[in-house]
Amino acid sequence: MSSTDTPADALAIRTADEFRGLYGGVPEGVWAAPGRVNLIGEHTDYNDGFALPFALPQRTRVAAARRTDGMLRLHSADVPSGVLTVRVADLDPAHPPQAPDGWARYPAGVVWALLDADLPVPVGLRGGADLHIRSDVPTGAGLSSSAALEVAAALALTELYGIPLARPELAALARRAENAYVGVPCGVMDQMASACATDGHALHLDTRDLRQQHIPFDCAAAGLRLLVVDTRVQHDLADGAYAERRSSCHEAAAALGLPALRDLPYPELDRALGRLGDPTVRRRVRHVVTENERVVRVEELLRAGRLREAGPLLTEGHASLRDDYEVSCPELDLAVATANAAGAYGARMTGGGFGGSALALIDADAEPAVTRAVTEAFARAGHRPPRITAAEPSAGAHRVL
Ligand code: ADP
Ligand code: MG
Repeated sequence: MSSTDTPADALAIRTADEFRGLYGGVPEGVWAAPGRVNLIGEHTDYNDGFALPFALPQRTRVAAARRTDGMLRLHSADVPSGVLTVRVADLDPAHPPQAPDGWARYPAGVVWALLDADLPVPVGLRGGADLHIRSDVPTGAGLSSSAALEVAAALALTELYGIPLARPELAALARRAENAYVGVPCGVMDQMASACATDGHALHLDTRDLRQQHIPFDCAAAGLRLLVVDTRVQHDLADGAYAERRSSCHEAAAALGLPALRDLPYPELDRALGRLGDPTVRRRVRHVVTENERVVRVEELLRAGRLREAGPLLTEGHASLRDDYEVSCPELDLAVATANAAGAYGARMTGGGFGGSALALIDADAEPAVTRAVTEAFARAGHRPPRITAAEPSAGAHRVL
């Protein structure tokens, strides 16, 4: 194994050990990519807008080794499906490899996207690879375990096979795997956060050109904490509703003669809304335009070290997602309202919505009280107990072993 970027963690070492047990050889390396929380800027990434995510300490590890016989072998410690073997030459979005809950489509999609991209000589990759995956990013909790898996696999394969890809291009390729191979029409924010975020920073992302800036976001130094409340709710309507929101945004932009809703400046919002007939479409547009403005304002506050003042903008963003964009749910609303009543500076749902997780900005010493308040409120309402953890802005994808 070659030199490492960061100290190895226990899960990475375990992942390497398990690889040996599964495949009988030593992995050539272990790579890790984190889940993410979006601080602000939700449902903006398919409108060419802004987002401000940060990487979680939870990461997906991929232990990997090259092969020469054209076979791709995949295994995840997190899904009881055994080793799955597919021929690289047979990878085809129309016939993805079958596995319980379809998880293998994510790493297989990354291999397919690498081969399908116009990249310098990815010939070696046709020889195949062995991948073993282990993650502590909760799946389906709105914390982007899917992007963590794609980005970790993409980084492992590009480094092993010497395929030169800058991080934004790697993120775009991982997104293409999810869009075209898995069939999920996600934007690029999750993959960008996982691939490009840095420790102690939020990532200011312009989804039009993937330009990024690292904004210092050291909550601990400011005596603050970010609580992530996983509601453990997964709504089935999420896919259809997401597609519906996307298309109404694109239709509204077209009706206003704009390339994307990002091109509608905040001061011109009211006038533009007057030109849109449908009240639902008006509310969707209002969310996107005000949300982009909130990203800009939160970024300014972070740069000025005025972290607490970002709180009310988070709560405003939640109200906009709940009332104008209609992608919240009772559990997310309860988590936000309860955290705020228990002293949070602000709180909001994070991720696509209809379940998943909420984020609360609190004083570090308020963590026990806010955690207790939210847990009790969920019990009183008859909801499943939420999983509540503290998150620190952490490193993006890197080689661990
Ligand atoms: P989220 O990205 O919010 O966690 P998604 O539904 O987008 O939710 O992605 C979750 C899916 O990604 C899982 O159902 C599984 O198919 C795949 N996945 C994520 N992490 C892993 C893992 N460690 N092992 C196997 N599959 C995984
Ligand atoms: Mg996902």
